[in-house]
Amino acid sequence: RVASQRANPRSVRSSNVVRMGTLIRKPIAEELKEKYSATDIGGKVLAEYIWLGGKVADMSTGKPICRDATDIRSKTKVLDKAPESVSDLPEWNYDGSSTEQAMGNDSEVMLRPVAIYKDPFRKGDNILVLCEGYTPQGEPLVSNTRSKAAEVMEKIEDQVPWFGIEQEYTLMELDGRPFGWPKDDSEPGPQGPYYCGAGAAISFGREISDAHMNACLYAGLNVSGTNAEVMMSQWEYQVGPCVGIEAGDQMWVSRYIMQRLSEEFGIVVTFDPKPMPGDWNGAGCHTNFSTKAMREEGGFDVIKEAMVKMGERHQVHIEAYGEGNERRLTGKHETANISDFKWGVADRGASIRIPRSTEAQNKGYLEDRRPGSNIDPYVVTSLIVETCCLL
Ligand code: ADP
Ligand code: MN
Ligand code: MN
Ligand code: MN
Ligand code: MN
Repeated sequence: RVASQRANPRSVRSSNVVRMGTLIRKPIAEELKEKYSATDIGGKVLAEYIWLGGKVADMSTGKPICRDATDIRSKTKVLDKAPESVSDLPEWNYDGSSTEQAMGNDSEVMLRPVAIYKDPFRKGDNILVLCEGYTPQGEPLVSNTRSKAAEVMEKIEDQVPWFGIEQEYTLMELDGRPFGWPKDDSEPGPQGPYYCGAGAAISFGREISDAHMNACLYAGLNVSGTNAEVMMSQWEYQVGPCVGIEAGDQMWVSRYIMQRLSEEFGIVVTFDPKPMPGDWNGAGCHTNFSTKAMREEGGFDVIKEAMVKMGERHQVHIEAYGEGNERRLTGKHETANISDFKWGVADRGASIRIPRSTEAQNKGYLEDRRPGSNIDPYVVTSLIVETCCLL
């Protein structure tokens, strides 16, 4: 119980919904939503401006803090017409003192639109607008990790970096227990049947996984697949391949969509890297990566060179690969121990796995298995580029 509350502080919210393993949509809210849905709003367009909450450093000491992967904020701007591109969208602002991203006496944070997606919740012409945060003086906020990542991606634009990110997540009930788990603190049957499994006593939350995939595809995100994971009530979706900064953009928007869906299902999503202690798999964010040179003839040699550099910078990467990841990277559950770096072909116990097909074709990509599910994808993708391509 203690572990799952630490896993997601938001899960301690009390709830009057009592159930076990059954998704209860909020019927009254659903009906009202339908009744007042934004289908005929006099030609106006609703733009949901999204930004990353989650402070990344202590305001007074400057000490880095791992960003909360579920802390994504948004508010609605009513527009007179649909924009053709981000440059048509006005800048906006929010109260940064309410998100611990600015001091109360100078609280305004500017929102600069950087990407537009279709809004899968309001549908129609309505949109989701991903934004970067700036100070009124035009400096990126400390928490604006996108700004730095975009600079790094620009430097190696000609190498066309691709990323495919496998986001694992765990569904929790509002009382902090994993979805469908026994209410009496006992555990469900051991791992084995749940991974990619089907059946009433095995699969918990498929509706959410499917709804999320469809909502992401509607929005225009490059989701490439989903699967049930090894721990009961744990799932995965993959985003990619995406080029450069788009990987981080799409990953954050996909998480936002997940947060919104979790409201509808009354289920809390946690990105804690090890939500349940004991013999239960953790949750990761395997990051698949390739450059043009890696995807071309002889690319396996380029990948092997990258492995040497990755090995030398193991500690730097581990520090950026998610808070609490040491609870996951024990070496017992399908990844190497946190203090070892090893890579191998088809080795799911390695820090970095080279797919069998990459060895066979002498070109392809690498899979960094170390990142925990709560990473900031802007930080991780740009760090991989820095280590493999810029050192
Ligand atoms: P796993 O076998 O580890 O579970 P998945 O199928 O879940 O792998 O995810 C692999 C991800 O890697 C997908 O998002 C896929 O689009 C992406 N991917 C495929 N080829 C490349 C490549 N050349 N470079 C980067 N990512 C790639
Ligand atoms: Mn106000
Ligand atoms: Mn996978
Ligand atoms: Mn997985
Ligand atoms: Mn994987």
